Amino acid sequence: MTEHTTSDVIIVGGSCGGLACAHALLGSGKCRVTVLERAPSITAAGAGLGLGQEALSILRGFGLAEEVESISLPLPTEVNTAVCPSGKTRVLQRDDSYNHRSLHWSDLHQMLLSGLPLGTVRFSHIVTSRKQLPGSQKVTVTAERHSSEEGAKPEQLQMDCDLLVAADGSMSATRALLRPNESRRYSGYCAWRGVVTDSEAPEAAAAVRRAYQALGTAIYFEIAEGTHGVLYELPRQRLNWLWYVNQEEPELKGHSVTVKAGMEQIQAMRGRAAQTFRPEMAQLLQATPTPFINAIYDREPLQRLVQGRIVLVGEAAHPTTPHALRSTNMAIMDAGCLGDCMKHCSSAQEALKQYEAKRLPQTSKEVLFSRHLGRVKQALDSSVDWFNAGSEQCNGLAQANMSSFTP
Ligand SMILES: Cc1cc2nc3c(=O)[nH]c(=O)nc-3n(C[C@H](O)[C@H](O)[C@H](O)COP(=O)(O)OP(=O)(O)OC[C@H]3O[C@@H](n4cnc5c(N)ncnc54)[C@H](O)[C@@H]3O)c2cc1C
Repeated sequence: MTEHTTSDVIIVGGSCGGLACAHALLGSGKCRVTVLERAPSITAAGAGLGLGQEALSILRGFGLAEEVESISLPLPTEVNTAVCPSGKTRVLQRDDSYNHRSLHWSDLHQMLLSGLPLGTVRFSHIVTSRKQLPGSQKVTVTAERHSSEEGAKPEQLQMDCDLLVAADGSMSATRALLRPNESRRYSGYCAWRGVVTDSEAPEAAAAVRRAYQALGTAIYFEIAEGTHGVLYELPRQRLNWLWYVNQEEPELKGHSVTVKAGMEQIQAMRGRAAQTFRPEMAQLLQATPTPFINAIYDREPLQRLVQGRIVLVGEAAHPTTPHALRSTNMAIMDAGCLGDCMKHCSSAQEALKQYEAKRLPQTSKEVLFSRHLGRVKQALDSSVDWFNAGSEQCNGLAQANMSSFTP
């Protein structure tokens, strides 16, 4: 690549990480960007997530300040509570400087997509190979373009770029170039998840709002025996919940970690909820029409995020468990950092070196802290009597501990 000129960038993956990178790299003023996404279109998938101030500030820097406000709610407080089905509770930890915002994944994805110039994202494009010849400054990307016409054969495309950004998720084939033969780590548990509106479940929603008075401003972690739940509100009166259940690794199909739950499984989950959580939380889980299951994985932190002109971002770089709400935050922060490095460095090579130096230690720590928090809350290493736990143990539940965490 000739330095100080415009670089051609291909981003593999048009989820939140890939689209955030497209914004950041276009914003650097030094890149032409094409995003190749396997899916034929965006679907209203996903559920809730929380963003911290660093990720929010990056999104605002993309010129999306008003949009971010309109799709999210303030989430200033984190509360961890010991709970049991009799309704007895003990607040273990409360942090009023948590300072996040809550939003729905598909609103974030839609916002990022709408903010990009038309034609930046090409759907139905599956990247099948990425090659860089030794010593070359170019990466050759091969992709299949799939047509919606019945019986049509996919068209083969070949493109050269100066920089390949791998935002192709936790099963990234690009990552396999940096670490072949690596497998993901099953956490030991799955998460039941649901989003339910007040109008879908008026009685359950009213009961939950009475019991959880800070709902709308707090994220609640409900620590029960050997398991935990999460509850917070999303814009448009949607209540978002998760329940982590220790179990064997489920059989998954294709690329997704989502398991569609059958009616029998849902009924069993509803019964167990009543034996686990306080009654109002159990009532909400029982009233959710279509809960689904996510198997929870992460991977060991990498030693490198860059190989030649290929750079990993988001889930491809550091798949993580969700306990500190870091996945989407890290993906957006990767994007912001990469854009900044491209803008301020005199060469792409220098930019990638700086990106790796800045993001690798931080994201490795976040992955390991999230794993630690999940293991504590799921009592995977030792069980804790949370109703009698000491203050040090209780304070250890706070997400703010991430900054001082030593793996
Ligand atoms: C449909 C969906 C719903 C989600 N819902 C939530 C949620 O509710 N809450 C939450 O916290 N997180 C959710 N996530 C995860 C969240 O988006 C990510 O963890 C985080 O934003 C970082 O994302 P990422 O872009 O790095 O990776 P991912 O979100 O995993 O996206 C990877 C993208 O790469 C594409 N891709 C993979 N291989 C290829 C290839 N060979 N060619 C072209 N494209 C390819 C995939 O189709 C996918 O769109 C969801 C992810 C997806 C895809």
